[in-house]
Amino acid sequence: MDDKDRGAPPDLAPPKGTTDLLPPESWRVSRLARLAMDTFAGAGYGPVDTPIFEHTEIFERGVGATSEVVGKQMYTFTDRGGRSLTLRPELTAPVVRAVLAANLQRGPLPVKLAYAGPMFRQERPQKGRYRQFYQVGIEAMGSALPAVDAEVIEIGSRFLASAGVETTLLLNSIGHVDSSCRTGYLKLLVEYLEEQRDRLAPVDAERVHTNPLRVFDSKEEATRAALEGAPYITDHLCDDCAKHFESVRALLEDLGVGYELEPRLVRGLDYYTRTAFEFVDAGGQQGKAARLGSQNAFGGGGRYDGLAESLGGDALPGIGFALGLDRILIGAGGGPDDDVAGGPVNAYVVAIGAAAARPALSLATRLRASGLGVDLDLMGRSVKGQMKDAARSGARWAVILGDAEIASGESTLRDLTSGAESRVALEDLAGLLAP
Ligand code: AMP
Repeated sequence: MDDKDRGAPPDLAPPKGTTDLLPPESWRVSRLARLAMDTFAGAGYGPVDTPIFEHTEIFERGVGATSEVVGKQMYTFTDRGGRSLTLRPELTAPVVRAVLAANLQRGPLPVKLAYAGPMFRQERPQKGRYRQFYQVGIEAMGSALPAVDAEVIEIGSRFLASAGVETTLLLNSIGHVDSSCRTGYLKLLVEYLEEQRDRLAPVDAERVHTNPLRVFDSKEEATRAALEGAPYITDHLCDDCAKHFESVRALLEDLGVGYELEPRLVRGLDYYTRTAFEFVDAGGQQGKAARLGSQNAFGGGGRYDGLAESLGGDALPGIGFALGLDRILIGAGGGPDDDVAGGPVNAYVVAIGAAAARPALSLATRLRASGLGVDLDLMGRSVKGQMKDAARSGARWAVILGDAEIASGESTLRDLTSGAESRVALEDLAGLLAP
């Protein structure tokens, strides 16, 4: 192709609402994802990885066509075979689909799975709200017992604490779809909203009959004011749902997990039943009402006992959560280990003189093969330049190789923190450098 056929060069900035994750920020993200997956694995949650895109109907039927995510935010496209596909906006529906597809619901229960990865929603980008964002989460499927609710919530709460954010756990029960409580309550709620219709923001007035619970999620001032006297689902739970909720609360108290009851918490996705919860920023100055539906949620989750059936599968009760890594990182701020490059490099091999370059590469390779994190110069730098690069790399040690060292089968080991130096035999290095 001629230059003139190529047109204008492409825009190198990533698409709106997305970012390129590069060091040191990318170290923080991958460390946090690893901490999450390790925490989840410690409670028996194995990793699950589903495709980045799914058949659109998985979200339409799983998340619900009247939800904001499905109605307004999905990246949906038609592929060359004419199929409608969607970049995943959330992972609960895909995970339940994958479990049903592999018939795991017929094996040992509960099925406990954990994930970390990117999700996609076409939202208006702002701080803490992106079009590609990262979530970690778990799903426990196959048990309707309140013990699972307590286990799941405790794991989320413990992970957030170890990630360095201070959170308040908001807890609610929204009843069971099939039970008398949800049906009876929705009737009352619709009646109330009808009475208040003139005070509701237009977008919420439209929801009164399609998705009345979601009106509680509204960010509109007018709607919030109109909801002041609304009936709460928790006052209308049927005996079974009330008992379940009481047990969850008692178990959380056993586990030392603090919570605040929040009867207006309904969560954004349609599939929730019974327990709903959200972890919000405890450091924020906002009042209680402003917490809901706003950007200070690190994540949340709930029970979804009817989801598997709405995907056409066997009945399979489940509960899980999704937490947003981007927001956790904003909330946690920079930790002390973010001051340095933050990589896992422990040693930097410095070559003095051109003759040392080849042995330096061999030495670095041997040390890497023994499991150490090792870097070295690949730019032909001077010794001074290499020492600077060693400091930039975040390594604790400089392993210095010159003619004298090579001749005696040794290296000079410099502690880059204290500046102390000693001669060390090459075969002893790996043992000494192990962190
Ligand atoms: P949701 O699936 O909507 O309940 O979201 C769970 C969590 O994922 C939220 O509390 C956020 O931390 C995070 N999250 C959701 N949407 C976005 C977004 N557009 N940008 C960044 N984080 C998000």
